[in-house]
Amino acid sequence: MQNIKKFESRVRSYSRAFPVTFKLAKDAYLYDEQDNAYLDFLCGAGSINYGHNNEEIKKKVIDYLDSDGIVHGLDLATTAKEEFLKTFSSLILEPRELNYKVQFTGPTGTNAVEAALKLARKVTGRTNIISFTNGFHGVSLGPLAATGNSGHRGGSGVPLTNVTFMPYDGYFGNKSNTIDYVRRFLEDTSSGVDLPAAFIVETIQGEGGINVAKDSWLKSLYELCKEFEILLIVDDIQVGCGRTGSFFSFEQSEITPDMVVLSKSLSGFGLPFSMLLLKPELDIWKPGEHNGTFRGNNLAFVSATETLKKYWSTQKFESEINKKSQLLKSELERIVKKHLSADMEVRGKGLIFGVDCRSPDLAKQLADRAFENRLILERCGSEDQVVKFMPPLTADIETIEAGLRIFEKSIEQLTANSEIQLEVKKRTEQN
Ligand SMILES: *Cc1c(COP(=O)(O)O)cnc(C)c1O
Repeated sequence: MQNIKKFESRVRSYSRAFPVTFKLAKDAYLYDEQDNAYLDFLCGAGSINYGHNNEEIKKKVIDYLDSDGIVHGLDLATTAKEEFLKTFSSLILEPRELNYKVQFTGPTGTNAVEAALKLARKVTGRTNIISFTNGFHGVSLGPLAATGNSGHRGGSGVPLTNVTFMPYDGYFGNKSNTIDYVRRFLEDTSSGVDLPAAFIVETIQGEGGINVAKDSWLKSLYELCKEFEILLIVDDIQVGCGRTGSFFSFEQSEITPDMVVLSKSLSGFGLPFSMLLLKPELDIWKPGEHNGTFRGNNLAFVSATETLKKYWSTQKFESEINKKSQLLKSELERIVKKHLSADMEVRGKGLIFGVDCRSPDLAKQLADRAFENRLILERCGSEDQVVKFMPPLTADIETIEAGLRIFEKSIEQLTANSEIQLEVKKRTEQN
């Protein structure tokens, strides 16, 4: 830790919230230099859906390296790439009756979002993009303009332009339908909002506080897009790749986005790997127009192919996620009801859940205490007021229960402290 503090830029963030030096990782656990085990419900912010160093996936990667398989190939055709494309098409796209071309972008999520925004503007000839309150789409300038968080926006150094924000589902509470509000702006040619090239949306806002859009809201958004000939981009970087219980997060909502952005857990192994799925008729790129040295990471092709074959060739993995989801949801609800106040809310789907503490201070104390008890929980939301639960999708029931027990114990320890009791009591009375 000393060298990190001494040499690494102040921009570092996670190592501040979890200030130990980690050395090893296996499945749902991280190990520090003193061999202490930490249960990892941060999961690389959604990049470790299949656990750390997943044994079978790791074996394929090692075998590939051992055989002198190509590691870096720009965007040359390689066997590993062909194998991945064939597998992705037959196991993911075809069974879901989805017809997309695949664009390999630079390895970060933000670069794939850049590509989506560029292409939407290029195809429609319009410059405006509509994004939603509390949305997070990455921190290079294009996606940052579509990101709500003022802390991230503050780093831009230039005006962030060509994006209009509209209220996400539930922004004004559950009674108003924010799509009606958006529709009014589009219908009124004097509303001051330019017709956008695209909407960009997360079906569940991961960084924004685990805000879950209703299927009916997504469906209305999709219909609005069709009516006004606006493209729909789903940013499935965090909640795709199985996080919500299906490969794509939008599978239950009867929508077909024009573009889908995938990254984080796509490689299955925590390797940098992003891609953009686009409807074939949108594919008007000139060769090399969106370029990059690391487009298509061959090691990630290998690990991703194995991941798809191992977890996505049958329904079994999905039904297991949904069983574990019920446990996580009902236990979090029970714990919050028993120990905390009535205005706190448990939100989520699949294996991504948030406990909205309504208080950044309380959320920080809970996450800090959980970390002392060796459970890693991230915080999210506009003021970091939400404690986020994201166990690996491969974690078994016992591991999820172990995490829940540590969380409950951490609350019990905290509420034994009189100040916290007062805070919880005050919040309960206000309610
Ligand atoms: C993480 C994330 C991004 C950005 O990905 P990077 O790899 O950090 O650039 C974009 N959108 C969503 C929804 C994310 O969770």
